[in-house]
Amino acid sequence: MLEIRKLSVTYPGQQVLTDINLSVGTGQRLAILGPNGSGKSTLLKSLSGLVEYRGEIKLSNRSLRDFKRIELAEKVALLSQNTSMYFSYSVYETLMMGLYTQLRKSFMAVARAKDKARVLQVMEALDLENIRDQELSKLSGGQLQRVFFARTLLQNPEVILLDEPNNHLDIHYQLEMLRYIKEYFEQGKTVIAVFHDIDLALSFSENILILKEGKILSQGKAKEILSREFLKQVYQTDVLDYMLQKHKFWKGLEEGER
Ligand code: ADP
Repeated sequence: MLEIRKLSVTYPGQQVLTDINLSVGTGQRLAILGPNGSGKSTLLKSLSGLVEYRGEIKLSNRSLRDFKRIELAEKVALLSQNTSMYFSYSVYETLMMGLYTQLRKSFMAVARAKDKARVLQVMEALDLENIRDQELSKLSGGQLQRVFFARTLLQNPEVILLDEPNNHLDIHYQLEMLRYIKEYFEQGKTVIAVFHDIDLALSFSENILILKEGKILSQGKAKEILSREFLKQVYQTDVLDYMLQKHKFWKGLEEGER
Protein backbone atom coordinates (compact mmCIF):
# COMPACT_ATOMS: atom_id res chain seq x y z
CA MET A 1 0.00 0.00 0.00
CA LEU A 2 1.26 3.39 -1.05
CA GLU A 3 -0.12 6.33 0.90
CA ILE A 4 0.47 9.95 0.06
CA ARG A 5 -0.66 12.67 2.45
CA LYS A 6 -0.41 16.42 1.84
CA LEU A 7 2.46 15.99 -0.59
CA SER A 8 3.89 19.26 -1.87
CA VAL A 9 6.99 19.87 -3.99
CA THR A 10 8.62 23.20 -4.68
CA TYR A 11 11.39 23.75 -7.23
CA PRO A 12 13.32 27.02 -6.94
CA GLY A 13 10.73 29.75 -7.38
CA GLN A 14 7.89 27.41 -8.32
CA GLN A 15 5.44 25.24 -6.41
CA VAL A 16 4.94 22.18 -8.61
CA LEU A 17 2.75 19.90 -6.47
CA THR A 18 0.29 21.08 -3.84
CA ASP A 19 -1.40 18.99 -1.16
CA ILE A 20 -1.63 15.71 -3.03
CA ASN A 21 -3.56 13.02 -1.14
CA LEU A 22 -3.66 9.59 -2.71
CA SER A 23 -3.74 5.92 -1.76
CA VAL A 24 -2.80 3.16 -4.16
CA GLY A 25 -3.44 -0.37 -2.92
CA THR A 26 -0.99 -3.21 -3.47
CA GLY A 27 -1.58 -4.77 -6.87
CA GLN A 28 -3.48 -1.78 -8.25
CA ARG A 29 -2.95 -0.06 -11.58
CA LEU A 30 -3.29 3.71 -11.81
CA ALA A 31 -2.96 5.86 -14.93
CA ILE A 32 -1.98 9.49 -14.46
CA LEU A 33 -3.11 12.01 -17.06
CA GLY A 34 -2.84 15.75 -17.32
CA PRO A 35 -1.48 18.53 -19.50
CA ASN A 36 2.24 19.29 -19.93
CA GLY A 37 3.80 20.79 -16.85
CA SER A 38 1.02 19.67 -14.48
CA GLY A 39 3.50 17.84 -12.24
CA LYS A 40 3.07 14.23 -13.38
CA SER A 41 6.80 13.42 -13.63
CA THR A 42 7.47 15.22 -10.38
CA LEU A 43 4.85 13.08 -8.65
CA LEU A 44 6.56 9.87 -9.87
CA LYS A 45 9.96 11.24 -8.85
CA SER A 46 8.68 12.01 -5.34
CA LEU A 47 7.39 8.44 -5.03
CA SER A 48 10.84 7.09 -5.88
CA GLY A 49 12.58 9.43 -3.42
CA LEU A 50 14.28 11.51 -6.11
CA VAL A 51 13.00 14.93 -5.08
CA GLU A 52 12.63 16.76 -1.78
CA TYR A 53 9.04 16.98 -0.66
CA ARG A 54 6.85 18.17 2.19
CA GLY A 55 4.11 15.94 3.56
CA GLU A 56 4.26 12.19 3.90
CA ILE A 57 4.71 9.24 1.57
CA LYS A 58 4.38 5.80 3.12
CA LEU A 59 5.10 2.43 1.56
CA SER A 60 3.66 -0.51 3.52
CA ASN A 61 3.14 1.84 6.47
CA ARG A 62 6.75 3.00 6.52
CA SER A 63 7.81 6.53 5.65
CA LEU A 64 9.85 6.76 2.45
CA ARG A 65 12.29 8.96 4.37
CA ASP A 66 13.19 5.99 6.60
CA PHE A 67 14.31 3.79 3.69
CA LYS A 68 17.99 3.56 2.80
CA ARG A 69 18.56 4.43 -0.84
CA ILE A 70 19.39 0.89 -1.96
CA GLU A 71 16.47 -0.50 0.08
CA LEU A 72 14.08 1.87 -1.69
CA ALA A 73 15.54 0.96 -5.10
CA GLU A 74 14.63 -2.66 -4.41
CA LYS A 75 11.03 -1.73 -3.66
CA VAL A 76 10.28 1.05 -6.12
CA ALA A 77 11.53 1.30 -9.73
CA LEU A 78 11.06 4.31 -11.97
CA LEU A 79 11.19 4.32 -15.74
CA SER A 80 11.96 7.95 -16.27
CA GLN A 81 12.46 10.26 -19.22
CA ASN A 82 15.86 11.31 -17.92
CA THR A 83 18.33 8.50 -18.40
CA SER A 84 21.54 10.01 -19.80
CA MET A 85 23.66 8.72 -16.90
CA TYR A 86 23.92 5.21 -18.38
CA PHE A 87 25.06 6.15 -21.87
CA SER A 88 28.57 4.66 -21.79
CA TYR A 89 27.30 1.20 -20.76
CA SER A 90 26.22 -1.58 -23.10
CA VAL A 91 22.65 -2.89 -23.25
CA TYR A 92 23.63 -6.06 -21.39
CA GLU A 93 25.50 -4.16 -18.67
CA THR A 94 22.56 -1.80 -18.19
CA LEU A 95 20.18 -4.71 -17.75
CA MET A 96 22.49 -6.48 -15.30
CA MET A 97 22.65 -3.26 -13.32
CA GLY A 98 18.86 -3.28 -13.24
CA LEU A 99 19.09 -6.60 -11.42
CA TYR A 100 21.46 -5.29 -8.83
CA THR A 101 19.99 -1.77 -8.78
CA GLN A 102 23.44 -0.27 -8.36
CA LEU A 103 25.87 1.26 -10.80
CA ARG A 104 28.75 -1.10 -10.04
CA LYS A 105 30.40 -3.02 -12.85
CA SER A 106 32.04 -5.35 -10.33
CA PHE A 107 28.65 -6.95 -9.69
CA MET A 108 28.71 -8.31 -13.21
CA ALA A 109 31.55 -10.66 -12.31
CA VAL A 110 29.52 -12.32 -9.58
CA ALA A 111 26.20 -12.47 -11.40
CA ARG A 112 24.55 -15.81 -10.79
CA ALA A 113 23.56 -18.05 -13.70
CA LYS A 114 19.91 -17.71 -12.72
CA ASP A 115 20.14 -13.90 -12.94
CA LYS A 116 21.83 -14.06 -16.31
CA ALA A 117 19.06 -16.33 -17.55
CA ARG A 118 16.45 -13.76 -16.50
CA VAL A 119 18.27 -11.00 -18.33
CA LEU A 120 18.49 -13.14 -21.47
CA GLN A 121 14.79 -13.94 -21.25
CA VAL A 122 13.77 -10.26 -21.00
CA MET A 123 16.23 -9.33 -23.78
CA GLU A 124 14.65 -11.92 -26.04
CA ALA A 125 11.11 -10.77 -25.27
CA LEU A 126 11.93 -7.15 -26.05
CA ASP A 127 14.11 -7.93 -29.10
CA LEU A 128 17.30 -6.66 -27.53
CA GLU A 129 19.64 -9.63 -28.17
CA ASN A 130 20.99 -8.29 -31.45
CA ILE A 131 22.09 -5.06 -29.77
CA ARG A 132 23.24 -6.55 -26.46
CA ASP A 133 26.83 -5.27 -26.75
CA GLN A 134 26.03 -1.86 -28.17
CA GLU A 135 26.65 1.24 -26.12
CA LEU A 136 23.49 3.06 -25.13
CA SER A 137 24.75 6.28 -26.71
CA LYS A 138 24.46 4.56 -30.12
CA LEU A 139 20.83 3.45 -29.81
CA SER A 140 17.68 4.92 -31.29
CA GLY A 141 14.96 6.41 -29.07
CA GLY A 142 12.79 3.31 -29.38
CA GLN A 143 15.66 0.92 -28.62
CA LEU A 144 16.62 2.97 -25.58
CA GLN A 145 13.07 3.01 -24.32
CA ARG A 146 12.94 -0.80 -24.57
CA VAL A 147 16.25 -1.13 -22.72
CA PHE A 148 15.06 1.09 -19.87
CA PHE A 149 11.72 -0.64 -19.73
CA ALA A 150 13.50 -4.03 -19.51
CA ARG A 151 15.80 -2.66 -16.82
CA THR A 152 12.89 -1.42 -14.73
CA LEU A 153 11.19 -4.83 -14.93
CA LEU A 154 14.41 -6.62 -13.97
CA GLN A 155 14.62 -4.59 -10.78
CA ASN A 156 11.57 -6.66 -9.80
CA PRO A 157 10.23 -4.05 -7.38
CA GLU A 158 6.91 -4.00 -5.50
CA VAL A 159 5.96 -0.71 -7.10
CA ILE A 160 6.74 0.20 -10.69
CA LEU A 161 6.47 3.80 -11.85
CA LEU A 162 6.41 4.43 -15.59
CA ASP A 163 6.80 7.91 -17.01
CA GLU A 164 5.43 7.82 -20.57
CA PRO A 165 6.49 4.20 -21.14
CA ASN A 166 5.22 4.34 -24.74
CA ASN A 167 7.56 7.18 -25.69
CA HIS A 168 9.40 6.47 -28.98
CA LEU A 169 7.76 3.05 -29.35
CA ASP A 170 5.99 1.92 -32.50
CA ILE A 171 2.56 0.31 -32.19
CA HIS A 172 4.02 -3.23 -31.99
CA TYR A 173 6.22 -2.38 -29.00
CA GLN A 174 3.51 -0.27 -27.37
CA LEU A 175 1.27 -3.34 -27.31
CA GLU A 176 4.14 -5.57 -26.12
CA MET A 177 4.78 -3.09 -23.34
CA LEU A 178 1.13 -3.17 -22.25
CA ARG A 179 1.23 -6.98 -22.30
CA TYR A 180 4.35 -6.97 -20.12
CA ILE A 181 2.85 -4.50 -17.66
CA LYS A 182 -0.25 -6.68 -17.45
CA GLU A 183 1.87 -9.74 -16.64
CA TYR A 184 3.69 -7.75 -14.03
CA PHE A 185 0.39 -6.60 -12.57
CA GLU A 186 -0.85 -10.18 -12.43
CA GLN A 187 2.06 -10.96 -10.11
CA GLY A 188 0.40 -8.64 -7.57
CA LYS A 189 2.63 -5.62 -8.18
CA THR A 190 1.50 -2.00 -8.09
CA VAL A 191 1.92 -0.09 -11.35
CA ILE A 192 1.51 3.68 -11.67
CA ALA A 193 2.01 5.10 -15.16
CA VAL A 194 1.93 8.54 -16.73
CA PHE A 195 0.50 8.74 -20.26
CA HIS A 196 0.05 11.44 -22.84
CA ASP A 197 -2.13 9.21 -24.96
CA ILE A 198 -5.57 8.93 -23.34
CA ASP A 199 -6.48 5.78 -25.32
CA LEU A 200 -3.34 4.03 -24.14
CA ALA A 201 -3.98 5.13 -20.56
CA LEU A 202 -7.44 3.59 -20.72
CA SER A 203 -6.09 0.32 -22.15
CA PHE A 204 -3.70 0.26 -19.23
CA SER A 205 -6.21 0.96 -16.45
CA GLU A 206 -9.76 2.13 -15.76
CA ASN A 207 -8.44 3.87 -12.63
CA ILE A 208 -7.26 7.30 -13.57
CA LEU A 209 -5.96 10.37 -11.82
CA ILE A 210 -6.00 13.76 -13.49
CA LEU A 211 -3.42 16.34 -12.46
CA LYS A 212 -3.60 19.99 -13.38
CA GLU A 213 -1.36 22.78 -12.17
CA GLY A 214 0.08 20.56 -9.46
CA LYS A 215 -3.25 19.53 -7.96
CA ILE A 216 -5.50 16.50 -8.29
CA LEU A 217 -8.42 17.62 -10.42
CA SER A 218 -10.17 14.27 -10.26
CA GLN A 219 -9.61 10.64 -9.46
CA GLY A 220 -11.68 7.50 -10.00
CA LYS A 221 -13.01 5.21 -12.70
CA ALA A 222 -12.61 6.67 -16.20
CA LYS A 223 -16.29 6.04 -16.99
CA GLU A 224 -17.37 8.04 -13.99
CA ILE A 225 -15.14 11.06 -14.27
CA LEU A 226 -14.53 11.65 -17.99
CA SER A 227 -16.99 13.84 -19.87
CA ARG A 228 -16.74 16.19 -22.85
CA GLU A 229 -16.76 19.26 -20.61
CA PHE A 230 -14.29 17.83 -18.14
CA LEU A 231 -11.80 16.88 -20.88
CA LYS A 232 -12.15 20.36 -22.37
CA GLN A 233 -11.35 21.85 -18.98
CA VAL A 234 -8.28 19.64 -18.56
CA TYR A 235 -6.74 19.97 -22.03
CA GLN A 236 -8.28 23.23 -23.31
CA THR A 237 -9.42 21.41 -26.42
CA ASP A 238 -12.40 19.32 -27.56
CA VAL A 239 -10.82 15.92 -26.90
CA LEU A 240 -14.07 14.00 -27.38
CA ASP A 241 -14.57 15.46 -30.83
CA TYR A 242 -11.05 14.35 -31.82
CA MET A 243 -11.62 10.84 -30.40
CA LEU A 244 -14.90 10.48 -32.32
CA GLN A 245 -13.22 11.55 -35.57
CA LYS A 246 -10.53 8.93 -35.05
CA HIS A 247 -13.09 6.29 -34.24
CA LYS A 248 -15.07 7.12 -37.39
CA PHE A 249 -12.00 6.51 -39.55
CA TRP A 250 -11.30 3.09 -38.04
CA LYS A 251 -14.95 2.08 -38.12
CA GLY A 252 -15.08 3.04 -41.81
CA LEU A 253 -11.99 0.96 -42.49
CA GLU A 254 -13.47 -2.05 -40.76
CA GLU A 255 -16.76 -1.76 -42.64
CA GLY A 256 -14.99 -1.29 -45.97
CA GLU A 257 -13.10 -4.53 -45.41
CA ARG A 258 -16.17 -6.67 -44.88
P1 ADP B 1 4.67 16.99 -16.38
O1 ADP B 1 5.34 15.67 -16.16
O2 ADP B 1 3.23 16.96 -15.99
O3 ADP B 1 4.86 17.54 -17.75
P2 ADP B 1 6.74 18.01 -14.59
O4 ADP B 1 6.56 17.33 -13.28
O5 ADP B 1 7.82 17.52 -15.50
O6 ADP B 1 5.32 18.04 -15.36
O7 ADP B 1 7.00 19.56 -14.37
C1 ADP B 1 6.14 20.37 -13.60
C2 ADP B 1 6.73 21.77 -13.54
O8 ADP B 1 7.97 21.75 -12.82
C3 ADP B 1 7.04 22.38 -14.90
O9 ADP B 1 6.70 23.73 -14.87
C4 ADP B 1 8.54 22.19 -15.04
O10 ADP B 1 9.09 23.21 -15.82
C5 ADP B 1 9.01 22.28 -13.59
N1 ADP B 1 10.21 21.46 -13.35
C6 ADP B 1 10.35 20.15 -13.60
N2 ADP B 1 11.55 19.68 -13.20
C7 ADP B 1 12.21 20.75 -12.69
C8 ADP B 1 13.50 20.93 -12.10
N3 ADP B 1 14.35 19.90 -11.95
N4 ADP B 1 13.83 22.17 -11.67
C9 ADP B 1 12.97 23.20 -11.80
N5 ADP B 1 11.74 23.10 -12.32
C10 ADP B 1 11.35 21.90 -12.77
